[in-house]
Amino acid sequence: VGCVPKKLFVYASHVREDVADAAGFGWSGEPPRFDWPTLLENKNREIARLNGIYDGLLKNAGVEIHWGRAVLIDPHTVEIGDLRFTAEKILVATGSWPVKPDVPGAELAITSNEAFFLDALPKKALIVGGGYIAVEFAGIWHGLDVDVTLAYRGPHILRGFDDDIRFHVAEQMREKGVDIRCLVNVTSIEKADAGLRVTFTDGTQETFDQVMFATGRKPNTADLGLDEIGVELDDNGAIMVGEEGFQSSVPSIWALGDVIDRYQLTPVAIAEAMALVRFWWQGGPLHMDYDNIPTAVFSQPPMGTVGLTEAQARERYGEVDVYMSSFRALKNTLSGNPEKTLMKLIVEKVSDRVVGAHMVGPDAGEIVQGIAIALKAGATKADFDATVGIHPTSAEEFVTMREPINRPEPERAAAE
Ligand code: NDP
Repeated sequence: VGCVPKKLFVYASHVREDVADAAGFGWSGEPPRFDWPTLLENKNREIARLNGIYDGLLKNAGVEIHWGRAVLIDPHTVEIGDLRFTAEKILVATGSWPVKPDVPGAELAITSNEAFFLDALPKKALIVGGGYIAVEFAGIWHGLDVDVTLAYRGPHILRGFDDDIRFHVAEQMREKGVDIRCLVNVTSIEKADAGLRVTFTDGTQETFDQVMFATGRKPNTADLGLDEIGVELDDNGAIMVGEEGFQSSVPSIWALGDVIDRYQLTPVAIAEAMALVRFWWQGGPLHMDYDNIPTAVFSQPPMGTVGLTEAQARERYGEVDVYMSSFRALKNTLSGNPEKTLMKLIVEKVSDRVVGAHMVGPDAGEIVQGIAIALKAGATKADFDATVGIHPTSAEEFVTMREPINRPEPERAAAE
């Protein structure tokens, strides 16, 4: 119920646009029909295959797997059903779980967990939230021909990302037909004759077939016995661990991944695990480097980002140069697809170091992964300029942006 099936859904949902684009390249004929049960079945088969591989890797490494609900009964003992296991150290990596706001009728709405297994797609859906999951599922459902409304409580979706990038994603999504409504939230949901009647904070009401809350995920720590043995949790239920490591307030209990609520990203959890492995078994330092973590939102078009936003860079370094380019990708010229790509580099003026790179457009995640290596290595704008472009690609724009844009600090960056 996460990254991989989501990406498969993103591929599936983009086909409609690909088929429309094909006409410009000389292809014609009946548009193919989409069958949701087929996608679901194929996705389930692939996830089962992947789970089988992980299962096999663990077993081949000599790991014994017990399926059941685990409870810590003392700092060195875990109970699963009738079985008890003792260990010198225990690592809690129980992840997170989607949360719904406490509004009347919330039980009638789904979360992303259920969205991966729906019997049928809704005709008209409401997605609540403006983060990763809301934006990604808005694109997925819209691509699969669902009439999608996204309701976000703040002024602009994707809070925390670079402002130009956020505005660009929202604009492109709206252009494709997703109804994004900001500064509005849900106050209640009730059953109606046909669907679910939603009342919004502005007093309006509207009926949808499906309502999905994508309003964040909470660390999975309930009923694990943590409180009882003295493991300190924060207000959100996350296990509190040392700044430089993953040890909880009970020295034998360690934790990492979503359950410590630092970065809810799969590759970060994996990197944290590798850092702990090095510390426990290879004499390495107990240190995880959280600088310049690249990330992608698989919106449509997708966005990729690494380093600081313009607002963060201005706050940290004062003077920065901003390079930005917006264009229609080559593929979209013949197809007539109006989608526009945006690329942005933020450079610390004094050192010439590139401190932020952001992109919205096809393959943004693939492209920014490479750019992230450059940022990690401390590349300067001069290094970017000295790199020869690969032509014709969109990615080459990252090495050919010559003139900084001349604009004062945008007010909106400071406003939120
Ligand atoms: P996010 O934290 O990204 O977004 C939650 C959204 O819900 C925000 O827009 C937030 O608004 C809003 N929200 C929170 N509480 C309420 C409320 N009570 N009423 C209305 N709106 C509310 O969480 P997601 O659920 O989207 O995803 C969980 C995490 O999973 C992400 O943070 C991300 O780290 C990870 N993820 C990563 C993906 C990737 O790498 N591509 C894909 C999917 C998930 P506000 O901004 O105002 O706080």
